[in-house]
Amino acid sequence: MAEHTAPEHTASEALFERATRVIPGGVNSPVRSFRSVGGHPYFVARGEGAYVWDADGNRLLDFVQSYGASILGHAHPAVVRAVGEAAARGTTFGAPTEGEVLLAEAICARVAGCEQVRLVSSGTEAAMSAVRVARGFTGRTRIVKFAGCYHGHSDGLLAGGGSGVATLGLPDSAGVPAGAVAETIVAPYNQVPELDERVACVIVEAVAANMGLVAPAPGFLEGLRSACDEVGALLVFDEVITGFRLGEGGASTWSGVRPDLWCFGKVIGGGLPVGAFGGRADVLASLAPSGPVYQAGTLSGNPLATAAGLAVLTTLDAGSYAALSDRVSRFAAELEQVLTAGLTKGGAVDSRGEPLEARVPVAGPLFGLFFVPAGTGRVVSYEGAEASAATGLYAGFFRSMLDRGVALAPGPYEVAFPSMAHGEAELAHTLNVASDAILDTDTDVG
Ligand SMILES: *Cc1c(COP(=O)(O)O)cnc(C)c1O
Repeated sequence: MAEHTAPEHTASEALFERATRVIPGGVNSPVRSFRSVGGHPYFVARGEGAYVWDADGNRLLDFVQSYGASILGHAHPAVVRAVGEAAARGTTFGAPTEGEVLLAEAICARVAGCEQVRLVSSGTEAAMSAVRVARGFTGRTRIVKFAGCYHGHSDGLLAGGGSGVATLGLPDSAGVPAGAVAETIVAPYNQVPELDERVACVIVEAVAANMGLVAPAPGFLEGLRSACDEVGALLVFDEVITGFRLGEGGASTWSGVRPDLWCFGKVIGGGLPVGAFGGRADVLASLAPSGPVYQAGTLSGNPLATAAGLAVLTTLDAGSYAALSDRVSRFAAELEQVLTAGLTKGGAVDSRGEPLEARVPVAGPLFGLFFVPAGTGRVVSYEGAEASAATGLYAGFFRSMLDRGVALAPGPYEVAFPSMAHGEAELAHTLNVASDAILDTDTDVG
């Protein structure tokens, strides 16, 4: 095993201590907390490309990349320039700007069937507003979502959420009245639910990326499309992660299944706060000011955010996605082998004494990490993701990686977001580090 010295964390620890006094739990989003992996978060001082530097000056190879908001890597020159130029012209006006038109055109041009979009400031707003317009358009109240899919933290969509809700082991959330979720049905992922004419919409992560990475089973998305069509419900793809990430056209192009509405976020803001929801023009005609469904935002379509998002979308092309996806899929196959070999060597077993293996699923350039009993197939549901998390292996592996300068997300339900700046060298380094880190991971946790 390669020698490594534990990095210094004095500056981050001091910042965290101050943060806990003035910020609940010390973090502004629970996924950033280290509750499920132990220790305290590192504070980032700056980032460049595939790397961030923490407050103590440690360089980390960063697979978090703002949970997918940075696809070009940190501080990409095109984004920095676009934001700087936009800021110099004024940061927000409360009147329309050309940047909003350009970003909306860029989105609609890339996603077949997405005729119009409205820009908002977060993925949460996008999903919440898509549901509202679906209800307004159909005149129905019920919505169907899937266990382990995360659609932001609005009341009606938190039920059965993945991501931080799952990481913290919360059933859903306190503070959400029963009435707010009374019309939300939670169904198991990868099974087409029975629908009826009370259903306004089915909302789904077309590739689930908030319960680890769970790809749609063959026929699942097609099945949702026809089930919705049969009862006149709308199909909503929450592509806040997959949009402009799986490829230029996102998950609808990737899967060949066309929803009625899309939610976007993360990538389309280039690291600034943006979301968007869009789709069929006849559905979106229900939105104010044309129609009766109200939705608004002071900073919606913000000039800095639209400039950053447009810089990202125009920098990317089909070739860059293909090259990154190719690098990542070769890397993931090797990582799976290296980790499984390490687990076998360390004698890792689950609570029933079954030997454990690693699974490293990929979709486009995204990859996930599960620990499963030897011989089992891929994880297809939230239950599978929970069983993997219950092995308890993730926390130790995370810490071993972080000590060696590779930052994964601090929770077992997140995926990894290699950016365009993660080249062959970074991925090869990650493999080397992982093969050491897994041997150093406490496997006696079941
Ligand atoms: C991150 C995420 C959201 C919420 O976006 P925010 O910008 O964090 O509000 C919604 N849906 C999916 C699929 C996400 O991954």
